[in-house]
Amino acid sequence: MPLSTLLNGLKDNPYFGAGFGLVGVGAVIAGLRKGFQWGSVLFRRHFMITLEVPSKDKSYLWLLQWITTHARRSQHLSVETTFHQLDTGKINTEYHFVPSPGVHFFWYKRTLIRAERNREKQMIDLQHGTPWETVTLTSIGRNRELYFQILSEARQLALQSHEGKTVVYVAAGAEWRQFGYPRKHRPLSSVILDTGLSDYIVSDVREFISNSQWYMVRGIPYRRGYLLYGPPGCGKSSFITALAGELDYSICLLNLSERGLSDDRLNHLLSIAPEQSIILLEDVDAAFTSREDNERTRTAYDGLSRLTLSGLLNALDGVASGEGRIVVMTTNYRERLDPALVRPGRVDVKVLIDYASQYQLEAMFNRFYPEASLEKGRLFASSVLSVRNNVSLAEIQGYFMHHKTSHDEALNNTSTLLNNQ
Ligand code: ADP
Repeated sequence: MPLSTLLNGLKDNPYFGAGFGLVGVGAVIAGLRKGFQWGSVLFRRHFMITLEVPSKDKSYLWLLQWITTHARRSQHLSVETTFHQLDTGKINTEYHFVPSPGVHFFWYKRTLIRAERNREKQMIDLQHGTPWETVTLTSIGRNRELYFQILSEARQLALQSHEGKTVVYVAAGAEWRQFGYPRKHRPLSSVILDTGLSDYIVSDVREFISNSQWYMVRGIPYRRGYLLYGPPGCGKSSFITALAGELDYSICLLNLSERGLSDDRLNHLLSIAPEQSIILLEDVDAAFTSREDNERTRTAYDGLSRLTLSGLLNALDGVASGEGRIVVMTTNYRERLDPALVRPGRVDVKVLIDYASQYQLEAMFNRFYPEASLEKGRLFASSVLSVRNNVSLAEIQGYFMHHKTSHDEALNNTSTLLNNQ
C-alpha cells in the first residue's frame, strides 16, 4: 500500500485522530509549563531582588522587630517573653512580638515586600543550640538601595530602643551575645563610693576616651585597664554598671573561670568586642591564683580547654581599638592576683572599694530616708561604725529594707548588725 493511502486511512480513523489530538494538547501544556518555569526563573533573576539574612547575623533580630512594625496586619506572630527580677523582688515581664515562621507581606516605600521567615528543623546553630533560621525579603524591581534602607532603619529602631539603656553582652561560643534586654541606666548617684572616688574614676575614663591622639602620636596601644578590688557587696559591680550608663557604653561580661574558655577563644573574643563597650572581667582571682599555684594545680585535662595565665596576659596586651578599649577587672582578693596581671599597661588604675566609711553610711542613710535630717545621718554612721567597722553597703541596704518605714528604727537598732558578721 502506498504511504499516502496509509496516512489518509489513519487520518480518517476517529480513534487515532483523537489520540493524536490529546498528545498535541499534552505537549502544548508541557511546553507552556516549561516556558512558565523558565520565565519565572528569568523574571526572578532579572526583575526581582532578594535579601537573605541568617539568624547568625547581627541584623537578624533587628530585622524581625522592624518587620513586625511594618507588617502590622500580619496575624501570625511569635512571642518572646523577657522577665527580670528587680533587687526589690518585683518581677517585670515584657512581651515582644516578632513575625512567626512563614510568609508575610507588607508595603515599604510603595513597594510590596514578601518576607519569609524560615526555620530549619534539621539544622541547629551549634553555638547557641537554637534552630537555624533565615529571613528572606523579596520584592519586584532592581533597587538594592531599598534593602540598605531597610537594614539601616531596622538598626536605628533597635538603637532607639536601647537609648538610655545599658546593653550587657556575654560570651557565647566565639561571639558576643546580648544578655537579656537592655536595662535602664543605673544613675551614678545611686552608687555611693568613698569621698571623691567616683569622680576620680569617671574623670580618668573620660580623659582617656577623649585622648586618642595622645596614644596615637606616641604609638601606645589605645587602651586602659582598671582594677576594682575590695570586699564583696561594697559596690564594684554596681559602680561599673553605673559607669557604663554614664558613658553610654555597653558591658561585655566575661567569666574567666568558665570551662571551655581557651587562650584562643579569649583572644578572639577580646578582639571582636563591640566598640564603645567596657570589657568586664569579674572575679579575676577565681581564674588564676598566682602563676605557681596555677601551674601546680593544673591537670593535663585542664590544660586542653582552660585559659592559661600567659594566654590572658597576651590577650590583654593585644587589646586595642580605634575608640579606646576599657578593660575593668574586679576581685575580692587582690593579694591572690599574679603581679604580672596587674602591672601598668595591663592595669593602669587600681582602686580599693572598701567597707563603708562614715561618709558613705551618712549618704546612704539620707538617700534611703530623704525625710531624715543630716544630723540623724551622722548619728547613724557613727553608731554603725562603733558596732562594726567592716560593714558593706549591701548589708546596710538589707538592713534598711528591714526598717523601711521608720528611719528612727534604723537609727536605734544598729547593734543588730553585730550578728551579721
Ligand atoms: P560587689 O560587686 O562589690 O560585690 P555589688 O555592686 O554587687 O557589690 O553590690 C551588691 C548590692 O549592694 C547591690 O544591690 C547594690 O545596690 C548594693 N551596694 C553595694 N555597694 C553599694 C554602694 N557603694 N552604693 C550603693 N549601693 C551599693
